Amino acid sequence: MKLEGIHHITAITGDAPTNVRFYVGTLGLRLVKKTVNQDDPTVYHLFYADEAGSPGSDLTFFEYPGAAKGVAGPGMVHRIVWRVASEDAISFWEERLQSQGIATEREAGSLVFSDPEGLELELRIDVSSEPALIADHPDIPRELALQGFDGVHAFSADPAASSAFLSDLLGFEKDGDEGWKARGEERSSFYIYDEAPRREGFGGAGTVHHVAWASPMEDHEQWHARLVSAGAGVTPIIDRFYFRSIYFREPSGVLFEIATLGPGFTADEPIESLGENLSLPPNFEQLRSKLEDVLTPLPDPLTEVRTR
Ligand code: ZN
Repeated sequence: MKLEGIHHITAITGDAPTNVRFYVGTLGLRLVKKTVNQDDPTVYHLFYADEAGSPGSDLTFFEYPGAAKGVAGPGMVHRIVWRVASEDAISFWEERLQSQGIATEREAGSLVFSDPEGLELELRIDVSSEPALIADHPDIPRELALQGFDGVHAFSADPAASSAFLSDLLGFEKDGDEGWKARGEERSSFYIYDEAPRREGFGGAGTVHHVAWASPMEDHEQWHARLVSAGAGVTPIIDRFYFRSIYFREPSGVLFEIATLGPGFTADEPIESLGENLSLPPNFEQLRSKLEDVLTPLPDPLTEVRTR
């Protein structure tokens, strides 16, 4: 069994309207699902991805309105890395972000910046030759657009403690001194440890909640059984409607999920109108009118772009 790289990454926002403006309006991702946190349906769970809502491009946010900013510490992912095609793309993004008042740091083949709540993001030139996962945006030429995840950086106080877990249990390959790669048949993603700051981290706006790795549908129960027999403290299989999930912490403390590659975001709405309406799994449908009253109204950044 092989994990097909990153399935999705979930982070926290305290300000959903600003979050939508940044990830759709500025970065050019597509809002492919506007649903609620299944553990707290009074707040949004927003999913941004490529045009098709593909695993490997899917960054999701739990909204906690007004949440204080968190700080990444040991056992937390602290940087998300996206693929882009070329040095021209890096230049395009450097100029686009700076023109919107966003500070950037450029090195050869890389651009580092933060989202409005301090979540660290990086664009890197892709060397994988895997399919590019691109969303349409009126201001962003396809050849310069984000192409899906390359990997994530996590802080660990003791990276060696995770080695056997990542290699023997999850099948990650060693990739450099502090790095790992989850390489499947179709896609791969890196997982790199950086030396942890001395401070403790705490979750909040602008921090990553968990990273999900992708499993083919037919392997998922076996992944669960393998983690159970290893005593990894894995949850039962949870049906998230768009995919099935299991959760556990790897030894460095980072919350991992293994999610299935299907059925995907077209399970309850057509691909043409993904994300336009509030999607509720069937067992939440009876709450719709209540939820529509309490959820923060969201802007449509692409309409704002066109009418600007
Ligand atoms: Zn998840």
